Amino acid sequence: MPIDATLPYDDDNVFARLLRGEIPSTRVYEDEWAVAFHDIAPHAPIHVLVVPRGPYVSWDDFSAHASTEEIAGFVRAVGSVARTMGLVEPGYRLLANTGPNGGQEVPHLHVHLFGGGPLGPMLA
Ligand code: ADP
Repeated sequence: MPIDATLPYDDDNVFARLLRGEIPSTRVYEDEWAVAFHDIAPHAPIHVLVVPRGPYVSWDDFSAHASTEEIAGFVRAVGSVARTMGLVEPGYRLLANTGPNGGQEVPHLHVHLFGGGPLGPMLA
């Protein structure tokens, strides 16, 4: 069910719980700013979600309220995930669904990273 991305941050959302280690995930990368793990319902041969450690509901919330340091750290982390997973050549796709029209379901910012083969026109 798509979420209202303007709501306050909910500390009990699934990715907050996953970041605290309360529910399992298959982590592929983590650093000071971000954690990346395999999506449980992959839409591509490789489908990873990259989430900031900070409590941001959506791309809108993050881009408006995160510090410049957090934004830089997160953007660098997304690139590092792709490099760590060997996806730079022949390439990959990033996606951040935002709000109801974007189809965002989980109210903690996450960037979908797709790769591992040729991708169709749209995913997730
Ligand atoms: P959509 O489901 O429409 O893609 P989002 O952009 O909010 O909406 O994506 C949420 C993603 O989180 C989905 O791809 C879903 O499969 C994934 N997901 C939900 N719960 C978990 C979980 N516990 N571990 C890994 N991925 C999860």
